[in-house]
Amino acid sequence: MENSVLAIIIPCYNEELCVESTVKQLFVVMNNLIAKGKISARSYIYLIDDGSTDSTWDIICNLHKTNHHVKGLKFIRNFGNQKALIAGLDAVREIGCDCCVSIDADLQQDEWAIERFIEKFQHGSDIVSGIRNSRNTDSFWKKATAVLFYKTMNILGANIPMNHSDYRLVSKRALDIMAEYPEKYLFLRGFFNDVGLKTSYVNFDVKPRKAGKSKFNFVSLMGLALNGITSFSIVPLRFITVLGFAMALFGLLVGIETVFEKIFYNNSPNGWSTIILLMCVFGGIQLFCVGILGEYIGQVFKEVKARPRYIKDIELK
Ligand code: UDP
Ligand code: MG
Repeated sequence: MENSVLAIIIPCYNEELCVESTVKQLFVVMNNLIAKGKISARSYIYLIDDGSTDSTWDIICNLHKTNHHVKGLKFIRNFGNQKALIAGLDAVREIGCDCCVSIDADLQQDEWAIERFIEKFQHGSDIVSGIRNSRNTDSFWKKATAVLFYKTMNILGANIPMNHSDYRLVSKRALDIMAEYPEKYLFLRGFFNDVGLKTSYVNFDVKPRKAGKSKFNFVSLMGLALNGITSFSIVPLRFITVLGFAMALFGLLVGIETVFEKIFYNNSPNGWSTIILLMCVFGGIQLFCVGILGEYIGQVFKEVKARPRYIKDIELK
């Protein structure tokens, strides 16, 4: 049997300080795997420039000129890391590969773990997910929100393992299945865990960022998390229904009790603080529920417009 063609996908946004050394280092890893007979010599690297404003794209073009195993595309503007990943997955499916691995341009993930990804793939897994050994390189705030997010997602029924990352291998078969999902706001971590293909896990160490700054801030991480939840689960909507029903039942009982007291004991009302308290609690719950509904309407709105996921500017083949 011929060796598998591996495509390595790297989303890059203003990574001029990292991209060249990252590509060189990944070739060291790939050549090692080729020498061991684990992957085909036709394996390649695919870079997606997510609308960088620095010289990232020029560096990618130069790398492509000297080595045609470096391919890539440039977005017309910044579309975000998920879209860049999706574009990479679409592109390598079109170019052709047996499996692909996505990794960050700052090479925070241990690149030598790719060998274990390939082994699992060759033992029949269609998806191999990377699990971080620790989050030591993340700030306290990022760690805490990540824990909250994964816990919420698991309660909502998306079986995403803790400390999951976008460092993963997917097979050609998984790429073909992904191409049949028309939704524009696909949440990759949820999708690949839900699709039902044989999945295995590889632990890897996280290193500090090589150079440059993290491209994520609190707002973009919140956006990713909310999109992850609302594009993936309708459990919050069901929760509102159950909550609403419980509240109505509670209101009915309090109502009956009040009427009962009025008729049989003729008590004058003396519950000012109770009223204020209930108003605040009910008002808060209602606004929260309206907010959840709004998130879903927003999601429907974005999907209904069916705008393209991303717009390509230039492609290097
Ligand atoms: N990235 C991207 N588009 C963006 C933001 C980030 O393609 O809008 C890329 C970035 O270049 C890197 C990866 O996504 O390759 C992860 O980003 P980063 O390392 O900044 O995130 P962190 O490791 O801090 O979570
Ligand atoms: Mg990083």
